[in-house]
Amino acid sequence: MTNPILNDWTTPFELAPFDAISDADFAPALETALAAHKAEIAAIASNPDPASFANTVEALEAAGEALDKVLSVFFTVSGADSNPDREALQREFSPKLAVHFSDISSNKALFRRVADLWAGKDELGLTDEQARVLMLTHRGLVRAGAALEGAEEARMKEIKSRLATLGTEFTQNLLADERDWYMELTDADLEGLPKFAVDAAQAAGQEKGVAGPVVTLSRSIIVPFLQFSPRRDLREKAYAAWTARGANGGKTDNRAIAAEILALRQERAELLGYESFADYKLETEMAKSPDKVRDLLMAVWGPAKARADADAEVLSQMMHDDGVNASLEPWDWRYYAEKRRKAEHDLDEAALKPYLQLDRMIEAAFSCANRLFGLEFRAVDVPLYHPDCRAWEVTRDGEHVALFIGDYFARGSKRSGAWCSAMRSQAKFPDKQAPIVINVCNFAKGDPALLSYDDARTLFHEFGHALHQMLSSVTYESISGTSVARDFVELPSQLYEHWLEVPDVLREFATHAETGEPMPTEMLNRVLDAATFDMGFQTVEYVASALVDLAFHEGDAPGDPMARQAEVLDDLGMAHAIGMRHATPHFAHVFAGDGYSSGYYSYMWSEVMDADAFAAFEEAGGAFDPERAQALEQHILSAGGSQEPDVLYTAFRGRLPGVEALLKGRGLAA
Ligand SMILES: [Zn+2]
Repeated sequence: MTNPILNDWTTPFELAPFDAISDADFAPALETALAAHKAEIAAIASNPDPASFANTVEALEAAGEALDKVLSVFFTVSGADSNPDREALQREFSPKLAVHFSDISSNKALFRRVADLWAGKDELGLTDEQARVLMLTHRGLVRAGAALEGAEEARMKEIKSRLATLGTEFTQNLLADERDWYMELTDADLEGLPKFAVDAAQAAGQEKGVAGPVVTLSRSIIVPFLQFSPRRDLREKAYAAWTARGANGGKTDNRAIAAEILALRQERAELLGYESFADYKLETEMAKSPDKVRDLLMAVWGPAKARADADAEVLSQMMHDDGVNASLEPWDWRYYAEKRRKAEHDLDEAALKPYLQLDRMIEAAFSCANRLFGLEFRAVDVPLYHPDCRAWEVTRDGEHVALFIGDYFARGSKRSGAWCSAMRSQAKFPDKQAPIVINVCNFAKGDPALLSYDDARTLFHEFGHALHQMLSSVTYESISGTSVARDFVELPSQLYEHWLEVPDVLREFATHAETGEPMPTEMLNRVLDAATFDMGFQTVEYVASALVDLAFHEGDAPGDPMARQAEVLDDLGMAHAIGMRHATPHFAHVFAGDGYSSGYYSYMWSEVMDADAFAAFEEAGGAFDPERAQALEQHILSAGGSQEPDVLYTAFRGRLPGVEALLKGRGLAA
């Protein structure tokens, strides 16, 4: 073979030979790798020997090595350093991959072997981890519909395909509504807007082909407008358009689509033997049941609503002092909250930035990992896909643990946001493989590069995911590192953010770029206080959306989702001046695909755990308590998906998490 992606990688750390790979190598490598995986699957499915764990489950684990190589390289570069060729390849690859994996999950002969093993699992003499991998393999196939036959199988195919179409339509309608609406502003209408918001409005005007500035429905433009514009009439108009997305009547209206999606999801769950879609969806999550999700959300709702009501009074008074004699409305909240923030918590971003140098914040993340887990980081020079990438060898007691890559700077070829992925996951089967983990961010370049406080949190967040991959110590790749339930995967990352807030850490690493002085205590306190500002509002708008999402997927699907939404909000006693964070016609998390359907709660679920888990350190010897750190590594960071998340969490904490630490962290505790 001469394709550098498929050849053996003889590079340092067996890293992909990025300097030898060209874009023309991807398509032929994918074809070869798909064919090889197909042949491997066919051989497993048609094996004349009776099914054994080794010839079926382990064989599946070992299969697809070439495909892993191609996809890890391709997804790394297409996400972090794309170009028109790579975009075209992505469009070409994604349907091919969808068909490939759907063929595997509908392979009847393969399913029969796995089902035989599952039926006789108690006689197989499996280790706990092997039993877990068998359970997950079997469950994954059953949930994909592998056990269905005849008319039911055909109907499932139809449902899946119709749901995919509806999800795409929902997204496209939303985009169309967001694209079509804009409000022109005169120079006088720009009053009160900070420079960045004026610049964004001007740029948006140019993009729309309008001579002057405009407000659009993009969150990064409309939210600052609602925050800073003193023009109540314009705020109302913009807010009305923003919340009408997907509900404007005509061809782009999403309300009927939402109803059809909910009905099809219910049918799909019933075909698979579940009472409701929420039961189907939550089976694989830590929460397990709709009742547990509701209990959590309602425990937070009361204190959040009380705080929001108290805040509403303060904001109403500010509005009346402004000479506006009306009730506080959703288009007023952000404006008066911003005024209040400025008065009570003014944080001068420009003065703060020089204290947050990228290189020092990387050092801070490494230093915490050293104090907690004994990891050491040594910069290494290896060929990567872009000159901005940096790499470190991670060791412990002189032993190789992982290779860590940081790609921190924004550029046009990188998609937005920040993420962590494993270019190679940890595993011990079929051979021992050490992880290669990458963090990708979108920080502004500079000399030195300086971060906002949010950026610094992002850096710690992604590094927390990286630790989950790097400290993983399981046998099988399918359960390694971050291969865990969706409502559990953000625990290590959100937990790691807490170490950035440890005053000792900021004092040591938040040093001024020019003077080298540590951040003054007064500024440090302001930074830490600002974190809980307006949490009543933020919690209420989020919890309301999460409860509506849950109600949609429990019991019979609502024929009229808008009526169901109104009912839920009414029962809840929704705050008058706060809207849902995402209302049904534009709730993309829930309707654009399956990802967060009856799963929108999971952000808060993870926050409950990270707050509770960090409290475990504080209750023990402090943020670097060695015994707690050891327990965190043993039961969570090294364990991947080897056990149910509640078992892992209980092993770490001695009990399941309670909401007290979250309420305290959000400043909502009584
Ligand atoms: Zn994350």
